[in-house]
Amino acid sequence: MQRISGIADMRARVVDWQRAGLRVGFVPTMGNLHGGHLALVDKARALSDRVVVSIFVNPAQFGPNEDYATYPRTGEADCAALDASGVDCVFLPAVDAMYPDGAGPRTRVEVPELNGMLCDVSRPGFFNGVATVVAKLLNIVTPDLAVFGLKDYQQLLVVQRLVRDLNLPVDIIGGPIAREPDGLAMSSRNVYLTADERERAPALYRALCHVASRLERGEPDWPLLVAEGLDRLREAGMQPDYLEIRRADDLAEALTSDHELVIPGAAYLGRARLIDNVRVSLPTPGQRD
Ligand code: AMP
Repeated sequence: MQRISGIADMRARVVDWQRAGLRVGFVPTMGNLHGGHLALVDKARALSDRVVVSIFVNPAQFGPNEDYATYPRTGEADCAALDASGVDCVFLPAVDAMYPDGAGPRTRVEVPELNGMLCDVSRPGFFNGVATVVAKLLNIVTPDLAVFGLKDYQQLLVVQRLVRDLNLPVDIIGGPIAREPDGLAMSSRNVYLTADERERAPALYRALCHVASRLERGEPDWPLLVAEGLDRLREAGMQPDYLEIRRADDLAEALTSDHELVIPGAAYLGRARLIDNVRVSLPTPGQRD
């Protein structure tokens, strides 16, 4: 596995492959890799001839009181895991290379219709930071396809939208959520959980599944379902951020006439902020038995 940190070198590597007719898949990450990242790598490998993974802890997506300085950086272990997964190239750009003019005002990418809701409310500026760095990485790596996790559902929609709006020639693929055996979605930040918090953490997924199964069984009182879900989070000792029933394709507030839904949830537990979601397809009236 090749390690590249220079932007020009990264671009040249991929251009060479593409000139040889090879299809290049890309998985952007912030490192501290777990099974969720590696599942995205597997998906990229299945769909392409060469796979590039980037590891870049992007300062532009962290708020002033967030964990940029302490975000777990485990470069050597990450590279070993990527090598073992058959990745062809890891891109490890320095912060100065990605942001040579520092943190001051600069061009940024914003997807307004997905801001002002869900994660953007408690993490203002987060998605602008993500959208900007993803646009930069896609311009540097120029992959044929890029794989993003469905775990960060709002982020996946932001990326799909920016690619469409900016006419970037890349296919954006969603990869399924990888979970621990007890249902907790894998996350680099799960290391922040104490042993006691770790035991309680699967309550987020269970609360989402509870709401999903009541929806599927036809419960008409959606505010009641949301209240039940939030109660379950509080009972597990979490401080809920949000738990909502949204339309799957654009995250607009869902109407009872909608069928393709997603239930996104976020909650604070100790030092960690957990996020997760569950998709629900309600039968159309003709399909109901
Ligand atoms: P991160 O390193 O947290 O920025 O995540 C990099 C990519 O991995 C993003 O596309 C995430 O959505 C994805 N990802 C993170 N956790 C999971 C998970 N448990 N299952 C699937 N994808 C994930």
